[in-house]
Amino acid sequence: MRVGWSWFPALLWFAAGTGDLASPPLEAAEAPPSPERVVREATLRTSVALETVRSLVDEASPRLSGSAGFTAAIGWAVRAMQAAGLDRVHTEPVLVPHWERGDERGEILAPFPHRVAIAALGGSIGTPPAGLAAEVIEAESLDALARLAPAAVTGKIVFFHTVMERTRDGAGYGEAVAVRGKGAIEAAKLGAVGAIIRSIGSDQNRAPHTGAMHYDPKVRQIPAAALSIPDAELLHRLLARGKSVRFQMSLGARTLPDVEGANVVGEVAGRGSKDEVDQIVMLGAHLDSWDLGQGALDDGAGCAVVLEAARQIARLATRPKRTVRVVLFANEENGLAGARAYAKAHATEVGAHILALESDFGSGRVYETRFLGGPDRRAHFLAVADAVKPLGIAASDGPAEVGADLTPLQAVGVPILDLRQDGSRYFDFHHTANDTVEHLDGADLTQVAAAYAAAAYAAADTPGDFGRVPPQEREKHR
Ligand code: ZN
Ligand code: ZN
Repeated sequence: MRVGWSWFPALLWFAAGTGDLASPPLEAAEAPPSPERVVREATLRTSVALETVRSLVDEASPRLSGSAGFTAAIGWAVRAMQAAGLDRVHTEPVLVPHWERGDERGEILAPFPHRVAIAALGGSIGTPPAGLAAEVIEAESLDALARLAPAAVTGKIVFFHTVMERTRDGAGYGEAVAVRGKGAIEAAKLGAVGAIIRSIGSDQNRAPHTGAMHYDPKVRQIPAAALSIPDAELLHRLLARGKSVRFQMSLGARTLPDVEGANVVGEVAGRGSKDEVDQIVMLGAHLDSWDLGQGALDDGAGCAVVLEAARQIARLATRPKRTVRVVLFANEENGLAGARAYAKAHATEVGAHILALESDFGSGRVYETRFLGGPDRRAHFLAVADAVKPLGIAASDGPAEVGADLTPLQAVGVPILDLRQDGSRYFDFHHTANDTVEHLDGADLTQVAAAYAAAAYAAADTPGDFGRVPPQEREKHR
């Protein structure tokens, strides 16, 4: 959008010296800068996104579903949306799981005693109070485990030593994370009594990375935990030297009955016709976090980004024609109950969701835009991509990767815009006690907020829509 005459004077003004309000060329006075440019530049100048993350973590951290921290976060989100000038701020109740970590301890018993930094995986059962001790057998991956004879695994603790590669787009995480989700199931099938994994992360700190794991109702449940990467390296080297390693872990984890949580929703109502105002560009992030840190990167940053984008749009003299809706989801980390409840509660207006975005990658700068929607709507996507290009963001041909909270909407055809953030450092802190505000970059977070603000404005004001995700694409790209 905004092709032809409208961008040219803006370009002249830019070339004459950005922000030189004293002597802009005459043309600039005749054609004011586009609203996308206004909101983008206003966000760069006046973003309070970093302060918003601080406010969240100071009032509510950590925020695991079912915890008092999550309940506090719901109240915080309502106040933050009201303060940002959003309309129709409300909560939508949803039942969420309630898992508690309890006390935990892990140590190598033999060949020599050595305490390790350990964290139960989310959803794990606990061990008996006296702990669980057994010999360790290593597998590099689920495939490597499947090649082991059950007799070699029975009665042992399986140690998954899967090394995660550091990548900008997070692909290394996607490749490594299967052992966290399914390791306990596959190990138990072969008779193991416990599962431990090398943390799925890219740091060298003695801070284990938790994250969701699953059980299969048909398979015996065994406790599962992550070791910090240096501890996992040590264990790996001992085994590589042919040592017989005995390991003990004691996990106090338990699952309590589900409790009521909520998604928190607010809007910047559009200025257009009734039909246009009823159409929604949705900005999502998740309000819950894991329990070990502050959830500043995951996903306090995303909450602050979408709140800031909406705040900036709400302050404009000219709002977009369509409505921009912010949804802060419950329970992204361990169940997706919030995302499912949202899709169910809004089933009748699914068709009105013309585009959905989610921010869930810390403060990493946006470097690329991707789209998943109507194959014949690429020009409309490129018009939105143009609104963020001055932030150093390129348009890509690749399909959007879909944030977890958006998957139930994607499954019913809602188009997705993916503002891909640089995740090179994200997995140094992800799901650890080190996920704190000190590891956010304020300037980068501002760039992300500006990208969301400009893209949301452009999408909500463009004359065209984005079609629907074709049926064959509705289950992919997760
Ligand atoms: Zn997240
Ligand atoms: Zn997470």
